[in-house]
Amino acid sequence: MKKELKVVPIKNGTVIDHIAAGQALNVLKILGIHARMDAALSVVMNVLSKQMGRKDIVKVEDRELKPEEVDKIALIAPQATINIIRDSEVIAKHKVYLPEVIEGIIRCANPNCISNAEREPVISKFITVSENPLRFRCFYCERMIEDVSEYL
Ligand SMILES: [Zn+2]
Repeated sequence: MKKELKVVPIKNGTVIDHIAAGQALNVLKILGIHARMDAALSVVMNVLSKQMGRKDIVKVEDRELKPEEVDKIALIAPQATINIIRDSEVIAKHKVYLPEVIEGIIRCANPNCISNAEREPVISKFITVSENPLRFRCFYCERMIEDVSEYL
């Protein structure tokens, strides 16, 4: 039996699987995880997946991401699954849920929006309008955004 390409397993931490191909780095951006952090990271891009054709996988060692932290990645990876690993065992597995309100992640496309003000900008705030297709509305100026990856 041929198994799906296996990546090096981690002993403790979080595995984010089923990320749409090409979005792994945006996932890290949304989670605020970058190379300067202590956490050991592995990013696997463009692996074959039965369900999705191609997908990305992110592994964060020694850090268990909380559901409210990871839900934000549903913005760009709505099919993502989160696996929490302890002592090499998957102890919890969950899907991500798109939050109804997204604060401080998406940059508004409208240069005149109060959230883009040069002096004292307010924190951006978007309302999820629909999941399929993904659409978000700026709370302040009503500007709609579809492809979030351009506005992270
Ligand atoms: Zn706006």
